[in-house]
Amino acid sequence: MPDLKTRNQHEDALAAALLLIFNDWHDRWIAFGRLEGLDAAVAGAALPTLAQVHGEAAGNLASLQSFPLSAGEANQKGVGWARQRAAELGRQIVESTEKAIEDEESLEKVFGAERTVMIAITEVTRAITVGELWVLLLLMTEAGLVFGVFWYTEADERVCPVCAPLHATEREFWQQSIPEGPPAHPRCRCHLTFKEVSNG
Ligand SMILES: [Zn+2]
Repeated sequence: MPDLKTRNQHEDALAAALLLIFNDWHDRWIAFGRLEGLDAAVAGAALPTLAQVHGEAAGNLASLQSFPLSAGEANQKGVGWARQRAAELGRQIVESTEKAIEDEESLEKVFGAERTVMIAITEVTRAITVGELWVLLLLMTEAGLVFGVFWYTEADERVCPVCAPLHATEREFWQQSIPEGPPAHPRCRCHLTFKEVSNG
């Protein structure tokens, strides 16, 4: 499975939505010294992108394998997961923002564009992985197919000390260090590839 073709536009959309929120809460922090509501704002901004990416990734893998994935079921699964992940992301961002402010990092950096891009890349990677692994499970349980699941690093990540050793390895190997699959770290753009193996 190649990486999601629309990845860049989803990353851009999520980063842009987060930047609006970060700008707003940067000003609120300066005015009131509070981050109240940041978690919900982040969750609301992330939800549509995460659901969309999960759906695309799941749909692509299903059609590649000619698996009749129901659109309704895929949508329900994607939105359900995205809702959960978006809420969790909101909480994590509040925590990391509080910590960064405590550590006296510059507010321009804490609420800056670079951080929104980092979050967007990481979360799009996660949504792709989760969407695909869901379909993989369906292919195995409902279609009875067996797959090798390989880690694939993008060329610019082959030098990444975390991901480079995982490149082209199978699940048995990579899940020892990264049980849930990509992302392995912030800004990770790795993805999985699936190779059907004959079943007996
Ligand atoms: Zn990676």
